[in-house]
Amino acid sequence: MEQIIWFDVCAVILVALLLVLYYKKFSAPFQKYTLFLVLLWLNLISAITSLASFVLPGHAPVWVLRLLNALYFFAHGATPTALFLYVCSLTDYNLTHFHQLSAWLVPSVINTILSVLSIFFDIYFQLDPDGTYHRGPLIFIIYIFTCFHFFAIVYTLIQNHSLIPRLEQLSIHLFLVFMVSAIFIQLLFPNLVIESFICACCLMVSQLTVQNPEQIIDAPTRILNKSGFSYLLVPPLSDRKDFQVGFMILDNYYALEKVLGFDILEQRIQTFADYLRTNTGCLFARVENRRFCFVSQGFRDNGTVDAVLSKLREACTARQAKYPAPARMQFKCGILRCPRDASSFTELMSLLDIAAQASGSENACFTRLDDGDVAKLRRYKQVDQLVQTAVEDGSLYVMYQPIYCTENHRFCSAEALLRMRSKALGEISPAEFIPIAERNGAILKMTQFVLETVCRFLRTSGIQEYGIRRVDINLSTLDCTQTDISQRILNCIRENNLLPSLVSVELTETAFSSLPESINRTLTALSREGVRVLIDDYGTGYSNLSRLTRFPLDIVKIDKSLITDIPGSATARIVLDNTLEMMKRLRKKVLVEGVETQEQLDYLLPRNDCNYIQGYYFAKPMSEEELVALFRDQHSRSCSPSPDAASC
Ligand code: C2E
Ligand code: CA
Ligand code: CA
Repeated sequence: MEQIIWFDVCAVILVALLLVLYYKKFSAPFQKYTLFLVLLWLNLISAITSLASFVLPGHAPVWVLRLLNALYFFAHGATPTALFLYVCSLTDYNLTHFHQLSAWLVPSVINTILSVLSIFFDIYFQLDPDGTYHRGPLIFIIYIFTCFHFFAIVYTLIQNHSLIPRLEQLSIHLFLVFMVSAIFIQLLFPNLVIESFICACCLMVSQLTVQNPEQIIDAPTRILNKSGFSYLLVPPLSDRKDFQVGFMILDNYYALEKVLGFDILEQRIQTFADYLRTNTGCLFARVENRRFCFVSQGFRDNGTVDAVLSKLREACTARQAKYPAPARMQFKCGILRCPRDASSFTELMSLLDIAAQASGSENACFTRLDDGDVAKLRRYKQVDQLVQTAVEDGSLYVMYQPIYCTENHRFCSAEALLRMRSKALGEISPAEFIPIAERNGAILKMTQFVLETVCRFLRTSGIQEYGIRRVDINLSTLDCTQTDISQRILNCIRENNLLPSLVSVELTETAFSSLPESINRTLTALSREGVRVLIDDYGTGYSNLSRLTRFPLDIVKIDKSLITDIPGSATARIVLDNTLEMMKRLRKKVLVEGVETQEQLDYLLPRNDCNYIQGYYFAKPMSEEELVALFRDQHSRSCSPSPDAASC
């Protein structure tokens, strides 16, 4: 008897300690953690009731003993169910899909009913008038249910072994082995009540290993980190529940880091996080150094987020007044509505990226993004969706901007520029949709579309007969990371029976510098076949000049920012002159883009180091028909009987 009590006493102490640790260290409303907490409580109940039903007979009325025993059987029967749900919470098969799980819970419901009935009838146990315990006629049911759940757990583990981390699998397997052993020992030696103690030991091992909150907690602030927040948001997002997410971006994080130093800044953020935790009913997360998100508890009340934002605004402004202006934290914040603004966690995070770039008032401690900014974010989402299906929807088309050749004073080529027109948003500028397409990967399909359109145009329009030498196509960085890009370009050219020199590719200076050396091989392959490679927007990035010279680049396109202030600004003239001079000495052909005025042209033409000019001065981007007409007119002029006819 002594020994039995001793095991249960140990179990009570151990689980109580684990509970204290749990509440002290961490509490988050995640299924995994909540179910673990349920397991701890069930274990505590079963240990206490087991202990009490051994100690109390003779000291307490029989009805109290019946109640305690019934509670023991309830907790005992519910433990395997909770363990099963805990395992489910580690998989995709989580509690958000409760209806799929409900069939598995029938035994638990029956157990609860039988436990309650046991208070009045001899079902799970019988008690003598002096309180002595005997097993009841239906106690075997509890063992059948336990077996059922254990098999369900093993089945779930096998089915989802790739989803559940190794350590967690191991700890659950150990849990099962120890619990089955404990049940057998208890069946064989009814006086040796060790189940609660073994269960407590297994829970302790889990709590110290796999239930480690550090993975989802931001260490300095003790609030959720990005993965913790994603954990929190996945269920409501996948259920397409309507809820709001508030965000706060510490706009001047990096400036403050310089002024205050990392440690003091982190301390300030920690104090701020403490304030947030204790003064609002919301759940906060730090999803990046300087970005915080919050949602109302349980995602129930949409208005709460708005109220919290106003409260924070007041608190923030008041608390920061004591610091000098450069040491004040400047927050930019707003509210996003899910799933309208963002329907996945990745989307939400990319909206925060844009929010971080959105303009805010420089000097305010707390700038609430206005509807215009949030509208920008929403527009981003709209364009993002349109871009993904743009090729299939037929909303893309290609315009061509003619390029003037200074050597023979005529248009000789053109640049293909992509355009997008949607029913919902009308014409969308490439400056808006190209970066979005680069982010979501749709640019790959778009480049293929431009390539096919250009090749078809060159084959069918007859423009080759009017003297066009080539059409330039823009490649994005993402295109260049595709190993088959050069093959795709060459295939398309061949399928249209074109000379490779008729198509050329442009790659921006920034892309060129940021790509791995392997891109050289891809572009060299193109160059070897006769497809020219141009470097675009030269002068806007940080070129690796040695790399530029090593690579067989045919033409360097000087960015329009280098010509804008020509000829007025002396500095601009120095920069442009030296760039042109350098390219000449490197034996690169040069194309200057963005030429808009006669003065700019007059500056460039007399020099003989600018080979091509592209700009509104000559022509804006135009349709296929207009480009054909332009080249046809030019051709017929130069072929008409005139002193120039020889050049035809
Ligand atoms: P980019 O490759 O530098 O293209 C030149 C841009 O400058 C074009 O703008 C063109 O219309 C504009 N432009 C030409 N002459 C002048 C001028 O005299 N003054 C001024 N202010 N602008 C001039 P667009 O068509 O709006 O394209 C913007 C950017 O979008 C392009 O810059 C390019 O980076 C990107 N883009 C366009 N089409 C494609 C494409 O098919 N693929 C990829 N990856 N990017 C594209
Ligand atoms: Ca270009
Ligand atoms: Ca350019």
